[in-house]
Amino acid sequence: MLRIASLDVAYGGLRALDGVSIEVAHGQFVAVVGPNGAGKTTLFRAISGTVTPAGGTIHYDGHDLLAVPAARRPHLGIAHVPEGRQVFPSMTVLENLELGAYTEAGRARWRESLDLVLQLFPVLGARRGQLAGTLSGGEQQMLAIGRGLASAPKLLMLDEPSMGLAPAVADTIFDRIQQIHHEHGVAVLLVEQRVAEALESCDRGYVLETGRIVMQGNHDALIADDRVKKAYLGL
Ligand code: ATP
Repeated sequence: MLRIASLDVAYGGLRALDGVSIEVAHGQFVAVVGPNGAGKTTLFRAISGTVTPAGGTIHYDGHDLLAVPAARRPHLGIAHVPEGRQVFPSMTVLENLELGAYTEAGRARWRESLDLVLQLFPVLGARRGQLAGTLSGGEQQMLAIGRGLASAPKLLMLDEPSMGLAPAVADTIFDRIQQIHHEHGVAVLLVEQRVAEALESCDRGYVLETGRIVMQGNHDALIADDRVKKAYLGL
């Protein structure tokens, strides 16, 4: 579904991604983990089109994605839930969700998507008339994911959804992401610093360090890898 090959991104003289190759199959859950500054957000910006790679290719669902304008990419079924949530604070929960449904698929499937979002995150139903800026951090993250789902995506990209959340709230978010993937067949590309939780959830994972993929494998292989255990899982 998504095939990224030899991707290079530079900010001025700094190379943020260096020959990165990643694949996500239809309906697969893929995690990219790595420390601060590894290039995780940059990878998402390249897929969404807010940075232009210096080299490499991105193919998605039969499209040469780098030839598709950034504004068209959500209409191909790619939803990007950005780091730091970025909900519209002075709009209500429902208005934020409605904004997410601006894609063709999102408009066509609005009722169905709204039911799904409210089933996953009942608190958003209870607070549908509340201004998004007054929600707790965890609720804002749920809303950000809900807004992504409202576009009826085939690929949901989540940038550090657990950031700044208490462990119990982060666990709920990870559970819901797994539910979105398992029960609703949406492919998920997750970038996370919480390595243990991300690798626990995914089908396949990549470890990104200073712009390069240093390890990759399926869930079981990565969890069992001694280097992953030592460097990331504290074992
Ligand atoms: P974090 O987990 O801290 O968000 P990250 O893995 O998402 O980190 P990126 O935000 O992609 O990493 O940053 C990768 C590198 O590129 C870092 O060294 C960062 O300082 C640099 N960088 C990111 N955005 C810019 C920019 N707009 N201009 C210059 N350098 C940038």
